Amino acid sequence: MSKKWVYFFDEVAKAEEYVGGDWEKVRGLLGGKGANLAEMERIGVPVPPGYTVTTEACNAYLDAGETYPEGLNEQMLESLKTVETKTGKKFGDPQNPLLVSCRSGAKFSMPGMMDTVLNIGLNDETIKGMIALTGDERFVYDLYRRLIQMFGSVVMLAPGEDFEEVLTEARAKAGVETDTELNAEDWKAVAEEFKAIFKRHTGRDFPTDPYEQLNLATAAVFKSWFGKRAVDYRNAAGIAHDLGTAVNIQTMVFGNLGNDSATGVALTRNGTTGEHRIEGDYLMNAQGEDVVAGIRLTEDINKLKEEMPAAYGEFEQICQKLEKHYREMQDVEFTIEKNKLWMLQTRDGKRTAQAAVRIAVEMVEEGMITREEAVMRVTPAQIDFFLHPQFDREAVKAAKAKGDMLGSGLNVSPGAAFGVVALDADLAEKWAKEEGRDVIMVRPETRPDDVHGMLAAQGILTSRGGRTSHAALVARQFGKPAVVGMSALEIDLDKRQISVGGLVIKEGEWISIDGTEGELYTGKLPTEVPEFEDPELMKLLSWADEFRKLGVWANADYPADAQRALKYGAEGIGLCRTEHMFFEAERMPFVQKMIMTDNADERKEALDALLPFQREDFAGLFRVMDGLPVIIRLIDPPLNEFLPSESDLLRELCDLKLQLKDAGAPEEIDKLQKQIEDKELILKRVESLHETNPMLGMRGVRLAIHIPELTTMQVRAIFEAACTVAKEGVDVHPEIMIPLTSHVNELKVQQEVLEAEAKKVMEEQGIEPHYKFGTMIEIPRAAITCDQIAEYAQFISFGTNDLTQTTFGISRDDAEASFLIEYLEREILPENPFAVIDRDGVGFLMEMAVKKGRAVRPDMECGICGEHGGDPESIQLCHELDLTYVSCSPFRVPVARLAAAHAALRDKIKD
Ligand code: PEP
Ligand code: MG
Repeated sequence: MSKKWVYFFDEVAKAEEYVGGDWEKVRGLLGGKGANLAEMERIGVPVPPGYTVTTEACNAYLDAGETYPEGLNEQMLESLKTVETKTGKKFGDPQNPLLVSCRSGAKFSMPGMMDTVLNIGLNDETIKGMIALTGDERFVYDLYRRLIQMFGSVVMLAPGEDFEEVLTEARAKAGVETDTELNAEDWKAVAEEFKAIFKRHTGRDFPTDPYEQLNLATAAVFKSWFGKRAVDYRNAAGIAHDLGTAVNIQTMVFGNLGNDSATGVALTRNGTTGEHRIEGDYLMNAQGEDVVAGIRLTEDINKLKEEMPAAYGEFEQICQKLEKHYREMQDVEFTIEKNKLWMLQTRDGKRTAQAAVRIAVEMVEEGMITREEAVMRVTPAQIDFFLHPQFDREAVKAAKAKGDMLGSGLNVSPGAAFGVVALDADLAEKWAKEEGRDVIMVRPETRPDDVHGMLAAQGILTSRGGRTSHAALVARQFGKPAVVGMSALEIDLDKRQISVGGLVIKEGEWISIDGTEGELYTGKLPTEVPEFEDPELMKLLSWADEFRKLGVWANADYPADAQRALKYGAEGIGLCRTEHMFFEAERMPFVQKMIMTDNADERKEALDALLPFQREDFAGLFRVMDGLPVIIRLIDPPLNEFLPSESDLLRELCDLKLQLKDAGAPEEIDKLQKQIEDKELILKRVESLHETNPMLGMRGVRLAIHIPELTTMQVRAIFEAACTVAKEGVDVHPEIMIPLTSHVNELKVQQEVLEAEAKKVMEEQGIEPHYKFGTMIEIPRAAITCDQIAEYAQFISFGTNDLTQTTFGISRDDAEASFLIEYLEREILPENPFAVIDRDGVGFLMEMAVKKGRAVRPDMECGICGEHGGDPESIQLCHELDLTYVSCSPFRVPVARLAAAHAALRDKIKD
């Protein structure tokens, strides 16, 4: 017996048995849509009869060079017989014809990516039967032309525009605005013209044999799995390419049988805000694709309540039933045929970040899911979205007052963006990727083959389409601000311009869109990151905090950063880069003096001048972080970073010398000579500090050992600050960290200097705040010898920026602009190691360091303060390595809190 390739909707139990009871595997076999249709059937939701051809059949077909596997044809015929029995109709029967739809359905939803053909089974014979049965010639010819159109464009790949052109002409000829106003004769003529287009493009007549129609449509769905738009979408969404798609063959039901029929799409909760209220669009007397295509203006689903109260009541109950069953917000498609409600599809609904958080939290409160589930349902990227830019409020006010707000559309994906207008996807991608321009992609509506442009753009604007349109779905999924359905927007693709109310904006000119408000502005509005105060988000993150084991600290150099970090939930400062304080204008002269001089007294003078600045900075940090640890790292970069560049100096010297040549007055000559002398001195020093490879040169602990007074100054500043604020009653926890250590002896030397100075200050101040001494692990040798390091260091912190650089032997400053991109494109490296920790290399060293360190000092605090500390995948690794905390930029703290909870909950799920 051949393999079972086809499952009837009521055979879900058999599918479960075949895959061993695992629902994920059922979805893998039947695709998301097929599995859900079968599941709806199982729980008693009205679904038109039909069957699913499995993803295994698709893969077998593609593997065999596009040939049906053995038994598939027979099984499809048999299933069709069962549908005939259930419906009392017959496929190809001129008297009582069965019509079916053929739709793709992959394991993961890929909105609009794959192909659908409706009304299969119609031909010149069966339309007669349909006309006799419905008594509606107009309706049947409309169905027929739809079949030829979809079959032509989807199955045989004839250009869709040719069909659209005929429709436009037909409307013009009939003197009407919309398709619904066309009569039977009009549709009859359109159908004939469609057949002619079909023949012109395919070289053959439109197939009249319903079985051939079905076979060709099924094969087209199989093949569309490797269509360009499907492959692009999978690449962008990270979906595997070997899953294949299932095909669902289902009895057609009609929402266009008159005013007791309708069709629509809905989300069981609001996909933008998360509000617990059905949100959707529908059309009376229409077929499904009319709603999603955005061609006809849809009605709000609330109006259906008034128009068809009974059907709406049932629909509402089914929505509740589906939500309860799936324990998730659903995205449903329905049709009402002569007052009878049919559900055509259900799947988990796509949503904005705000909606994801609100729905997860409210479902916990409604007793539908657990807190753990709620936390797992929100992704780190969604949390990040809360920190998404919004327009500066004042700038918006000013723009409105100036009349720069051009109008509004639907606010389908929040966030604000500005960019230059690009009127097609290829251009949007080119400008964004090749020229680094900020782009807003503007289209009448988007289609699946626009996705590459949408991904490259900062935001998306369309003149047509609703909340469930393709543009809205894709924008939401990828977190792109989007405004859709802005009907006042005119797009002229010939003149390459857009206009609103007479104002013309050419392609390439700036616009700004607000996806939160749904507004369009001319020009470039400044953006800012919003306040972080959403109560649902706070609740969700507080649950995340209950589950996570990792601490979440922040990298912060100034009190204002620390304040923000605290507000976002940081539990300590994991890295204060003290050298950043040196770069400020009023401090630079002292810093440069300290570097320039060879004279010990002069150097001391410069360092003494810097000390109060540093002390105040540290005191500010300690005050903000009352009761929490603050890791202060001693100076790290090479000294030449504080000096002007060699080429600038040479240029300036050249200028001065030219001026000197032309100078006449003796005072002027004196002044210029003095300036030249000073510059030459600086140049000499810069040259003497020049290193061929400064990243591996005199920096970090090496520099501190070379200029011990620098360490002394910094230690004094830290301890004077700590003692002062401790006396104010602040609970201070300073931790002093040595950068770029490679040998334990470096630590020994530094610890001696530190302890001596710290002791001195504490004696002077008469108070002894508790402190820790530790080091960064940024050099493989330090990781490998962490047992020796742990004899001195009470804590370690992985500086994975440098550790990645030194482990790979690639420059962190240059690699990302050169070969690394090629490595990533050619998949020589699976990930950018500066973004995601390289588990096998850098991760291995980290593991070794933690193990060796804790073998000597079991309670050793181990953290990470490289950029990876805010990356969810790297946070997972840090959790596995049992680090004490991750430290990241204040803006990543909420993301890290959630990612750390996810890591801990994954452990729980495994157990
Ligand atoms: C690191 O190297 O990971 C680190 C945190 O230090 P910096 O980036 O300042 O070199
Ligand atoms: Mg470093």
